[in-house]
Amino acid sequence: IKNVGKTYQSGGKSLTVLQHINFEVEAGSTLSIVGPSGSGKTTLLGLCAGLDRASTGSIVLNGIPLDDLNEDERARVRNQHVGFVFQNFQLLPTLTALENVMVPLELRGQRNSRTTALELLDRVGLANRGHHYPLQLSGGEQQRISIARAFSNSPKILFADEPTGNLDADTSETIEHLLFNLNKEMGTTLILVTHDLDLASRTRRVIRMKGGAVVSDTVVQDNAL
Ligand code: ATP
Repeated sequence: IKNVGKTYQSGGKSLTVLQHINFEVEAGSTLSIVGPSGSGKTTLLGLCAGLDRASTGSIVLNGIPLDDLNEDERARVRNQHVGFVFQNFQLLPTLTALENVMVPLELRGQRNSRTTALELLDRVGLANRGHHYPLQLSGGEQQRISIARAFSNSPKILFADEPTGNLDADTSETIEHLLFNLNKEMGTTLILVTHDLDLASRTRRVIRMKGGAVVSDTVVQDNAL
């Protein structure tokens, strides 16, 4: 990420929410982005994941420069390289848990999507809940389904925006274990936005933001990935 900035245009006004962001994340590593509300964490995560486009600077994701790609091209890069976990899960309410995990597999034309989705549900400990709809599941279970979905393309990088933000302490612990285990077992780079400083302290590195800028960038777990 080199000299990245983001300016939103709305109501005829422009609002610069990120400026001069520079960092590099080693493959297979873990990083948290922390900072006060409104400091630009979610915006930055979205740019890094190719959900939105930076206004200035350049972002290279897994060797692919994102800057000149159009929306369709960015979607293709996301499908191939990125998993994204949202704070509010963003499961499709009219589909079962199993179908939610199957959707990205089918969009990629993968055969045996049902079997693969069942394996992913098993990984998150919910093989027996595949026929349930999101509203029939607890918040923690919905987040586990959304992690299974995020891992359906075996992503090189997983971005998670407040993955434990809506969950109680025990359920957060379960989700954290799941994310760190997937990082260790599959070598997935983990980039989290969080207000939970305990969670942040378990990642190798913590970037702190304020007012749209990085104010510190520290390795906090020398022995972590
Ligand atoms: P929080 O911790 O509350 O989630 P954050 O650090 O993730 O906050 P962002 O959501 O990235 O912050 O928002 C940064 C700034 O950008 C805020 O002032 C927000 O109002 C503004 N912003 C975000 N999205 C848009 C948009 N689509 N259009 C205009 N302004 C936006």
